[in-house]
Amino acid sequence: MNLCLYEPEHGFYMKNTPIGREGAFTTSPEISQLFGEMIGLWVIQQWQDLGSPPNFFLLELGPGRGTLMQDLLRVLKGNPSLFQAIRVHLVEISARLEEIQKEYLSEAPITWHHTVEQALGDCQHTPTIIIANEFFDALPIRQFIHQEEQVFEKVVSLDQNQLVFSQVPVTEPKKSPIKGIEEINPLMQVVGLQIANHLKKFTGSCLIIDYGYYETQYRDTFQALYQHSYSNPLEKCGETDLTAHVNFKALANQLGEAGIKELTFMTQKEFLESMGSKVRLAHLLSQESDPEKKKDLCTGYERITEEMGQLFKVLEGKCNPR
Ligand code: SAH
Repeated sequence: MNLCLYEPEHGFYMKNTPIGREGAFTTSPEISQLFGEMIGLWVIQQWQDLGSPPNFFLLELGPGRGTLMQDLLRVLKGNPSLFQAIRVHLVEISARLEEIQKEYLSEAPITWHHTVEQALGDCQHTPTIIIANEFFDALPIRQFIHQEEQVFEKVVSLDQNQLVFSQVPVTEPKKSPIKGIEEINPLMQVVGLQIANHLKKFTGSCLIIDYGYYETQYRDTFQALYQHSYSNPLEKCGETDLTAHVNFKALANQLGEAGIKELTFMTQKEFLESMGSKVRLAHLLSQESDPEKKKDLCTGYERITEEMGQLFKVLEGKCNPR
């Protein structure tokens, strides 16, 4: 997964423009402007809860084409004292996407980083608001297959020069209390801990949005997408997007254990509606006279709140000054 996504020359994120019509997949901010706008309102709320500090960092992990940040900054501009306080930092592994982001976000002063660790290292001693949409699902997972008397790790090997899945035993034969496939996301654990420690030290909030589940599921959620259709992950390596559902309970536990006490979990639909998305949609429709554009606004809104609104989940973590 690591090689297929991040290999410097051939990796999926390194050589393609993965998102949008010509890419492998599309995302909520690409579907409706309301998505980024509602996150903008959420950022205003967080800033106020932090006591409206004169400086704060807004850090986005995996900004894609920069659309979410663009929609969000448009909302923040309506609040001049907040807009002056903001320092935007982005974590982006792909040089190609970084270029696109630079083009779209040329108005605001922004600092780019390749890793979360670098970014957090640069966002010290100041409240930090972190957002991540469809970032954690991209991080490479490991799969462990629990059978009655043995646990195996799923691996990729070669059979007559063909890539195939196989499994290798990982422990001495023993009975496992788990049945099914256990997915572990080692980088998510590391990043979760880094975020929690940072927010605890400097205060702030995080908003993590992704497809995933809260109650632990012992099943295979690994998926490959080639040009908007499901495909074989062992074919067209580097052309295919590989992801897995996010285990939000594991992430919430991690944040909680590291001291982030205020954690809220909800669906994307619940989040958007709680920020007033219906009112914003009605306002946009009342301002628009072109019937085609009105229709696009409605279909986009439906897509991000109906099917995607249930599949996608939101984890909010807060650490405010006492
Ligand atoms: N948030 C955007 C894009 C989601 S796609 C949107 O909603 O449209 C995933 C994004 O995370 C891309 O920008 C990708 O290049 C970036 N990314 C994936 N893995 C990464 C990693 N390990 N480190 C930094 N960025 C990563």
